[in-house]
Amino acid sequence: MRNVLKFLAAKSFSATKFMEKSGEKIDISVIIPAHNEEELLPFCLKSLEAQNFSGVYEIILVDNASTDRTSQVAEEFGVKIVYEGRKGIAYARQKGASAAHGDILAFTDADTILPPDWLENIQQSFNTHPDIIGVTGKMYFFGQSKKLPILINVLAPLFYYLCRLISRGHYFIGPNFAIRHDILEKIGGFNTKLAIGEDNDVASRAKRFGKIYFNKNLWVTTSTRRWEHGSSSLGGVKNLLNLYFLNFIWYFVFKKPRVNEFYDVRRGGDYYFITKDAIAKIRLFAYSLFVFMVLIAIVVIGVFSPSSQVFGKNYWREKTSQKIVALTFDDGPNEPYTSEILDILAKYKIKATFFVVGENALYYPETTKRILREGHVIGDHSYSHPFLFINKKSTIEQEITLAQNAIYSVTGKYPRLFRPPHGFKSPWLMSAVKQSGLVVVEWSDITRDWAQPGEKNITERIIQKIERGSIIVLHDGDQTRHGSDRSQEVEALPQIIEELKNKGYQFVTVPELLGINAYNN
Ligand code: ZN
Repeated sequence: MRNVLKFLAAKSFSATKFMEKSGEKIDISVIIPAHNEEELLPFCLKSLEAQNFSGVYEIILVDNASTDRTSQVAEEFGVKIVYEGRKGIAYARQKGASAAHGDILAFTDADTILPPDWLENIQQSFNTHPDIIGVTGKMYFFGQSKKLPILINVLAPLFYYLCRLISRGHYFIGPNFAIRHDILEKIGGFNTKLAIGEDNDVASRAKRFGKIYFNKNLWVTTSTRRWEHGSSSLGGVKNLLNLYFLNFIWYFVFKKPRVNEFYDVRRGGDYYFITKDAIAKIRLFAYSLFVFMVLIAIVVIGVFSPSSQVFGKNYWREKTSQKIVALTFDDGPNEPYTSEILDILAKYKIKATFFVVGENALYYPETTKRILREGHVIGDHSYSHPFLFINKKSTIEQEITLAQNAIYSVTGKYPRLFRPPHGFKSPWLMSAVKQSGLVVVEWSDITRDWAQPGEKNITERIIQKIERGSIIVLHDGDQTRHGSDRSQEVEALPQIIEELKNKGYQFVTVPELLGINAYNN
């Protein structure tokens, strides 16, 4: 970044260029409202003086109750000066329009710098689209801080898009628009009651006479000072949203302005200019970063969220109007807790689903057989409970095969339900599971029961999250550790069952809940 104004200061200008020649037809009148703009006005006028325009144009500076050298500065450039004593942007724009002789009225602001093809682009817009009543374009920003212009330059395309959407294409950007002179007269000019948003008011009243063209090549560079107003960059964005954007929406929704007063924003000091090329680079970086973050978020959700379907079909609950839920137990068998849980389930005549770890099934074959014998369902929870999702596909397939064979050797069944260790998924894990003929089952109702937070806590949290079709997880084991304390789950289970029964819930196995087969043989 460099000081903006040096690059313009180097350009020379001739005061005679804007002198009105009597009787000559004027194509475009450029109107600049200015209140105490002695500081930035020279740069605006220099950029207008440097236009490569094939037509004839006049510049009208509206001195809007200035108390500084605004008029003297304009005089040095030889532009037409009119005075408007009533302070306000709409008064000033209207005064300029009344004094203009051009067929097209182009509006900009004193803190705005125009590219050399600005007027030519305006003229071309009307030549190539004869049916339009006006044209507007883009803004790039420079400012007195560095952060705020960067932030606003990054967000600007979003604002343009929303403005066009909300106004259905009928909006003008204050420092960068042009309207046919006859149309502005037909609609009675600017609404001088407005302190802000007078540009969009004109646009919305003029729309019955024709379209407004958004010319992507028509751009200006303007300052962010109207939002800086002695605040941080985030404060500046807040001001932008509050003053302009909300006011904009207000106008189109309620047909009246939200902001009725506007403060003076003149401030001395250096301005930092960001070139259009630099803005393009900043935007590319910011948007790439945004896309990257979104992708990261999608991957994180895909891996860690039990409900995510990002990497493929995952059953985590059933949408049903029936008051049914499925109880599931992970990481068993693990004695004596698995047997105690089986006793409780038998007492309440409830069937559940046990996602067993292959190694544990081999270690406790009798308990594993009992699970099946008592009408519960056995699912596959891997062979050794590793962080399976980060492994390569062939390793994952090996784990699944080992677990399937272990469970088969004890029970004679090949489970169809697979719950990944920790519930973590990856694209290659999902693909290996699918190719092995299994389906992934996660959960919708979980609490950190494995940390043994107290049976009351376990019960409360499980009950809190219950819904029709919920899949509940509790742990009867702890990965491949044998004898890990699961007494709190055992204590909590009868309370959970009774509370849910009191609420009218019935218990089913996961295959019953989902309407799928439990086994592949
Ligand atoms: Zn587990």
